[in-house]
Amino acid sequence: MDLRSYIRDVPDFPKPGILFKDITPLLADPSAYAYAVAKLAAHYATRPVDAIAAAEARGFLFAAPMALELRKPLIPLRKPGKLPFQTHSYKYDLEYGSAELQVHIDAIAPHAQVLLVDDVLATGGTMAAACKLVEQAGGKVAGCAFLLELTHLQGRERLAGYDCFSLIQC
Ligand code: IMP
Repeated sequence: MDLRSYIRDVPDFPKPGILFKDITPLLADPSAYAYAVAKLAAHYATRPVDAIAAAEARGFLFAAPMALELRKPLIPLRKPGKLPFQTHSYKYDLEYGSAELQVHIDAIAPHAQVLLVDDVLATGGTMAAACKLVEQAGGKVAGCAFLLELTHLQGRERLAGYDCFSLIQC
């Protein structure tokens, strides 16, 4: 199945000059969505993974079905103020301003191998922050999985030292 045909290019979103890759056509096609999740999960079926984590919001769309398919715990990484229990926090810089991700202090067992999942790898800033948060919480990064990698933005270089896998490259 050619998953590329389920990704729509939207010019000038969210601002002029940006070509946004819209994954909603893939989500709207159950066969394509199921195929993408199955392919991502299959890549990790024989690798050491204790849990699957993702940053809100679009990471959840792939992490949750992968966690079910691989029968692993799902760990949400959330923006500040969303998680009800005590949290670890990691602040990181964005192009303009800063952002923060949080995880419950009891979500990650010591040295657990955590697979991180997101829909798109662009500059790698979001995933790098997710990796740092997992490590701060006592886990190890088993890998970083993406539906789509925007290779020209070289996010993979920002994630040097982590094992990255993407299903579609463009
Ligand atoms: P990064 O931190 O620059 O790698 O950006 C990745 C994050 O931004 C991911 O969580 C994506 O959901 C989102 N993102 C960045 N560019 C796109 C895009 O073209 N389409 C969909 N999501 C994007």
